[in-house]
Amino acid sequence: MKIGAVLGFNLIDYPGKIAAVAFTPGCNYLCPHCHAAPLLANAKDIGDAGFLQYLETVKEWVTGVVICGGEPTLQPDLIPFMEKIRSLSLAVKLDTNGSNPALLARILARDLADYVAMDVKGPESLWSATAGVPGQSAAMLESMKLVVRFPIYEFRTTVAPVLRANGEISFLTVPEMAAAARLIIETTGSPDHKYYVQKFIPRKDGLLDKRFEAFPETPIQLLQDIHKEVLKHLPNTQVRG
Ligand code: SF4
Repeated sequence: MKIGAVLGFNLIDYPGKIAAVAFTPGCNYLCPHCHAAPLLANAKDIGDAGFLQYLETVKEWVTGVVICGGEPTLQPDLIPFMEKIRSLSLAVKLDTNGSNPALLARILARDLADYVAMDVKGPESLWSATAGVPGQSAAMLESMKLVVRFPIYEFRTTVAPVLRANGEISFLTVPEMAAAARLIIETTGSPDHKYYVQKFIPRKDGLLDKRFEAFPETPIQLLQDIHKEVLKHLPNTQVRG
């Protein structure tokens, strides 16, 4: 499987685990605020053999593996890769943009992921702008229904600037984030989900849309206001810095 970069171990990306992280290159979305896709676009494929060998040597103290990207479900050999990690008795966390419910269903059926984190790119009315590509609603809604069937899962939204229909760019608002929270409830039939409201962090070394590089990180006051409002809908919501 193609891997663009790795972290040998990490205590943040997989809560409760010491996790190795594999970043897969390529994404089918064009989120304007994305910094991962431009970085990974220039990354050389280092393949999975060395990563799997590394896991063999550290499996006594590394307790999990995070597969993220880019978008991992674009990798045609993701399932065999996950099976190999499983054979080492390591926990697996998959990060996804929710664009491939068919593959998520196969991963679920084979019990290949312990934890799935899915991006919810704001309210559905803005998905074309926030994901950078139109026509993703059906897949993302289907993925939301599947994600809640994994042993552990989370939904998360980066409170990023959005390119509006009138050409202006402004941060997701409190009402828009409340709409995203309500959509999660309507789609899954429950408010009992871990939901993370994440800070947008600008990078001068490359976002997909250069205009977004001029923006500051998400103002703390906005994050607090969103948190307060979203908690009314999804009581297990936290702000992630
Ligand atoms: S932020 Fe968007 S474009 Fe970037 S990797 Fe995630 S889904 Fe893909």
